[in-house]
Amino acid sequence: MTTATNNSIRAIDKESVHRICSGQVVLDMTTAVKELIENSLDAGSTSIVIKFKQNGLEYITVTDNGSGISDANLETLALKHYTSKLCSFNDLAHVRSFGFRGEALSSLCALAQLTVTTSTGTTPTGVLVEYSANGTVKSKSPAPATKGTIVRISNLFEGMPVRRSEFVKNIKREYNKCIGLVQAYALIATNIKISCVSQTDKKPPVTYIASSGNPTIRQNIINVFGPKAMTDVIEFDLELVRGKARSSNGISDSSNDDEVDEDDDNQKGSISLTGYISSPSFGKGRSSADRQYLFINGRPCVLPKIARVINEVYHSFNTNQSPFLVANLILPTSYYDVNVSPDKRTIFLHNERMLVEALRIKLTEIFEPSRSTFAVSEA
Ligand code: ADP
Ligand code: MG
Repeated sequence: MTTATNNSIRAIDKESVHRICSGQVVLDMTTAVKELIENSLDAGSTSIVIKFKQNGLEYITVTDNGSGISDANLETLALKHYTSKLCSFNDLAHVRSFGFRGEALSSLCALAQLTVTTSTGTTPTGVLVEYSANGTVKSKSPAPATKGTIVRISNLFEGMPVRRSEFVKNIKREYNKCIGLVQAYALIATNIKISCVSQTDKKPPVTYIASSGNPTIRQNIINVFGPKAMTDVIEFDLELVRGKARSSNGISDSSNDDEVDEDDDNQKGSISLTGYISSPSFGKGRSSADRQYLFINGRPCVLPKIARVINEVYHSFNTNQSPFLVANLILPTSYYDVNVSPDKRTIFLHNERMLVEALRIKLTEIFEPSRSTFAVSEA
């Protein structure tokens, strides 16, 4: 047996801590891309282009036409916990922006080479800034004054040999995961053009997944998957919890009852699920298990229990296939916590069990009319 008596406890050097923690914030290429898209959305962009060079192995750029970054903010931009979106923990309950921790760019510096080209459109020239691994500015040079920002990450995970070789080995899978994520944003983001460009050494750049700044999700679905995707699709707006008037003390208690009392934004506090799902009577055997997109207040996320009940109800009407699904859960920000996992995709939902049961009932109701149709098509 070994003892620790000769091993004194010491602090890990700052650089190593930074590397270790960064690896937890940016788990893979998809998390990196997600962080960059969300920064562009937070900057009020109406056009976002995501470009993958060699499937992302060489570099990824995210180009937007948002606010741009002012000169004064460039020095601290990529430092850990520097953000323009949150000042204290109390703000977290009200956070509507995608980002709020000030960790993404800082982490990306430790895991890749980061450059930012930006202009607020108010100065004669823009600026191209190269950051070093610890998030400080390495070099600065003039750039065109086109309003917006281009963030480029090159050679992701290069400084981490194990991660990089896994990344290279699984690049096809990683890339497809990224595409799924870009699709999710292109589906949910209305009035914002989102497109993806793939470039390899052998072929000229190819643009795909292009949404054209549509005002509706329906049009986005048609842009992303083609008009056929909307064949026999049911549009739904299910009120899972009816809103109430705001309580007098303004405090909500969700710990032991199944009711939602109020909303921090002084809205009605209702919870609903809106979106599109293929009808159970639709085309036998055309499974769309890989085309299921869930959102919480427009934020792509993983909600396994909600996804499971939707599939269960669907399968009780049609055992042959899984539905195409685009569903947005709309609820007060005080009823969920996005600060559970570093990638913010795992969400803690208050009263999830109650929501799941309400959803089971409402979905069954909307599918009921298709039961007879399906029985006929089965016969
Ligand atoms: P967070 O998004 O949590 O604030 P980030 O590290 O992702 O942290 O970004 C740090 C800051 O950099 C943001 O708060 C924002 O002010 C600025 N920023 C990042 N990307 C962009 C962008 N595309 N356009 C404008 N500002 C940006
Ligand atoms: Mg961010």
